[in-house]
Amino acid sequence: FGENDDCIGWPLGGEGQGMPWMFQMMNESRIGTATIGLGIGSLAAQNTTAYAKERVQGPHITKMRDPDTPRVPIIEHPAVRFNLLQMRARVEGMRALMFKATFLLDEISVTDDPEMQASKQNLVDLLTPMCKGWCTEVGLEVVQTGIQVLGGVGYTKDFPMEQLYRDLRVAPIYEGTTDIQALDLVGRKMMQNQGALFVALLQQIGEFLPSLGEHPRLASLGKIYENYCDTLSDLALGTQEVMQIRGIEGVVLHATPFLMFCSSVTAGWLLLQQAVVAHDRLEKLKHEHGIGDLDTAEFLKENPQARFYENKLITTQFFVEAVIPQYEGLMAAAKRRNYDPLDIVF
Ligand SMILES: Cc1cc2nc3c(=O)[nH]c(=O)nc-3n(C[C@H](O)[C@H](O)[C@H](O)COP(=O)(O)OP(=O)(O)OC[C@H]3O[C@@H](n4cnc5c(N)ncnc54)[C@H](O)[C@@H]3O)c2cc1C
Repeated sequence: FGENDDCIGWPLGGEGQGMPWMFQMMNESRIGTATIGLGIGSLAAQNTTAYAKERVQGPHITKMRDPDTPRVPIIEHPAVRFNLLQMRARVEGMRALMFKATFLLDEISVTDDPEMQASKQNLVDLLTPMCKGWCTEVGLEVVQTGIQVLGGVGYTKDFPMEQLYRDLRVAPIYEGTTDIQALDLVGRKMMQNQGALFVALLQQIGEFLPSLGEHPRLASLGKIYENYCDTLSDLALGTQEVMQIRGIEGVVLHATPFLMFCSSVTAGWLLLQQAVVAHDRLEKLKHEHGIGDLDTAEFLKENPQARFYENKLITTQFFVEAVIPQYEGLMAAAKRRNYDPLDIVF
């Protein structure tokens, strides 16, 4: 390893350029590591849903008092359904975020317009720590929930879930831990050009939101979503004040919760875009088959394509109404300007 002074090194990219070169490599591998969160999380969600349809345990809650009632597959228990949708919504959120980042990379590689390249690269730079930090953490949450849904066999080697957990557990650690991704997001990317990257992201979201204003199915969801954007914006604006009160320590103290919340809001924006498309396609399908609102439930049972679009709408609604607030909750300490972890003497 060079202890004998007989090693030769070649600086890549010239003196003083090590960090930018390192980051070019790191950013690619961070997106790659984020894929592990999405891939394993998605596999866990599929395995868990399949198991929940097979495993028979307990009576249905509506027939609990009837001793002769048959036992039902666990997918019929509300608590299990809640967990399954928690998993699915997270997987779809991760996939949306990953598709956005990698599609931008594709766009960069096919355009010769330097301005276009720069603006897309800026967004990739902002999304990279979100993909790496959020998708690896959220992928783990998905597997963890899946293990719980499987019950005892989720913990044993008889089923693949425990291995999925072990395989994924390293992803929030290597290629830079989640806290390091959060430092990258809050300490570097959001500080660049007086926050221009972050402002550009909020602007893009802001340009999309009016399209939900009069939407027949997504208007009220759009309003709920807008509140998260306001909170995100307020938190970012409040950074200056925190800097004055507690300095950079105070700012980065809440960086990881911020990364989790900011990423979930970004994923929500992308899911809402998908939901708009899903709604249009579903309406078109219904029109083609002459289906009125009263026949929709039956149509959804019979037509897998229609069910796919309807499920996309339901999943997006759940993501916005139930999943994003879980990450927003992580910001409670930041909102209250709580600095206890800095003050306590360990
Ligand atoms: C299975 C495996 C394979 C690996 N493969 C490779 C590889 O191929 N190539 C390679 O180069 N490396 C590899 N690594 C190393 C990996 O990238 C590091 O383990 C990882 O970056 C964390 O660094 P560390 O282990 O030194 O932890 P530390 O840096 O000691 O971190 C410990 C804790 O402190 C926190 N922390 C540290 N610094 C800060 C800070 N400034 N601000 C806030 N929190 C901080 C971390 O978030 C973490 O919670 C691999 C690791 C594993 C486990």
